[in-house]
Amino acid sequence: MLVRCDQNIISKIPRFAELRTELDSWFSSVEDRLFLTIGKMYLVYALTFRGSIPWYFIADDTYDGKHYPFAYPARLFSLVDNRVSRHWVFGFAFSRGDESRRATMTSLFAVEPWAKDETFFERLVDGEDDCVKRFDKYKGSLDCEFPNPAITLIAGTIDANWLNCPKCGEAWEASPHERLVKSPQCATVMVNPPFSNTIRDGAGGTLKRGRAFCAYCQGIQGTIEAATRTYPVSG
Ligand SMILES: [Zn+2]
Repeated sequence: MLVRCDQNIISKIPRFAELRTELDSWFSSVEDRLFLTIGKMYLVYALTFRGSIPWYFIADDTYDGKHYPFAYPARLFSLVDNRVSRHWVFGFAFSRGDESRRATMTSLFAVEPWAKDETFFERLVDGEDDCVKRFDKYKGSLDCEFPNPAITLIAGTIDANWLNCPKCGEAWEASPHERLVKSPQCATVMVNPPFSNTIRDGAGGTLKRGRAFCAYCQGIQGTIEAATRTYPVSG
């Protein structure tokens, strides 16, 4: 699931709007400007519902300094890719606000250790070594799961599944099935070469109207639609 930020200033949202009430209750102690960049795309690492309102856990603009995702209401974003992660499972989490806020149960789609254990996220925030390592491992899979229009750098090919990173020169063996790959050395996420020109090659240079089978989602779709969505297409 990929979203694009549309709003990052709390005071620009009408004072009595439901979203403003929600933001004021969760972000009352922080600056008016949220740690988000308008127009920037964010991958959703977990999806939670507080009451009936969906919140996205994303790596906001302070992520590099804290290393855990932070939740923002879905209405601050528009959806770019609405597919949910195959790495998610469903669970309940125990949510605590400030001292005046009653503890509530919230539903959660997240990677297994997080969705199954209501203390996982708190321990991740605390920087507990085991949690940080487990989340980083899952994050690596989530980062490479879906195509991202903002990622256009293509990994170099050495031989078969062996790739090299154009940024740091690191070589590694990657799965041929993931659309994106991550340099183990510098963590740059790039396009996996087998997916960089599938449509161009398959169409022989000219894309004709027809039906195409997508090996990734197992769906049948129009070739024009498939090409527009830039999913891998064969046949
Ligand atoms: Zn690299």
